[in-house]
Amino acid sequence: MYDITMRQRALALLGQGLTISEVSRRTGASRGAIREWRLRTEQKRDLYAGPYRECPRCTELPSAPEPRDSYAYLLGLYLGDGCISPVGDRSKMVWALRIACADAWPGLIEQCAAAVGAVRPGNKVRIIQRIGCVEVNSHSKHWPCLFPQHGPGKKHERKIELHPWQQEIVNGFAEDFVRGLLHSDGCRFVNRVRRPLKNEDRWYEYPRYNFTNVSLDIQRLFTDALDRLGVEWTQMNARNISVAKKGAVARLDEFVGPKY
Ligand SMILES: [Zn+2]
Repeated sequence: MYDITMRQRALALLGQGLTISEVSRRTGASRGAIREWRLRTEQKRDLYAGPYRECPRCTELPSAPEPRDSYAYLLGLYLGDGCISPVGDRSKMVWALRIACADAWPGLIEQCAAAVGAVRPGNKVRIIQRIGCVEVNSHSKHWPCLFPQHGPGKKHERKIELHPWQQEIVNGFAEDFVRGLLHSDGCRFVNRVRRPLKNEDRWYEYPRYNFTNVSLDIQRLFTDALDRLGVEWTQMNARNISVAKKGAVARLDEFVGPKY
């Protein structure tokens, strides 16, 4: 048995282009062991590059999930109206990510399913008709690694904090994150106001966005992202954040809806 330092040194020397015999001579490890380390490393790399790539979080050197824009969007959807629950036999440690998609946003089911498929390309994405909504559902062992906010009980009953690697993604892809939050817990609606004039009444339309979530932590993540994007917002009451100013609504329309 060789220790991990020896293995790392051998892999580093191989990486510099040395042959197995040379590495063996320099490190003292057997050629058989070095061959096996190289094979295992190559297999790992292939796994990572291929459709069944392993989880970016539970490896020796954790990295952020890719693609980051899809992850930011999916994180918004998950924090808004998603849940992670065990599938069948708990000992198998397989989890279902479920995201309820309301009818209010055209194209949401497709966008949601595409984001799930992009972040975990090896896992099947199911679209299930439920009463009043469509659920996008996918099974993986790694949903809790990718969404460490998972925990027992309701999201608003526990503290929701982003890990530094998540915060970095959210900062870089604030538009995708905001779109995900609004697609799960928000709506865009039009206020119609009548102005009586001399000969006729005239109607004016004011589109606005509303975000509803009981968790103050999640509201804060939403408003921090809006601040980052320079979108003005108002706290309406304990649960609701409103975006109503013309310029702010126009800015959200660029990447949230109604046509997006
Ligand atoms: Zn994992």
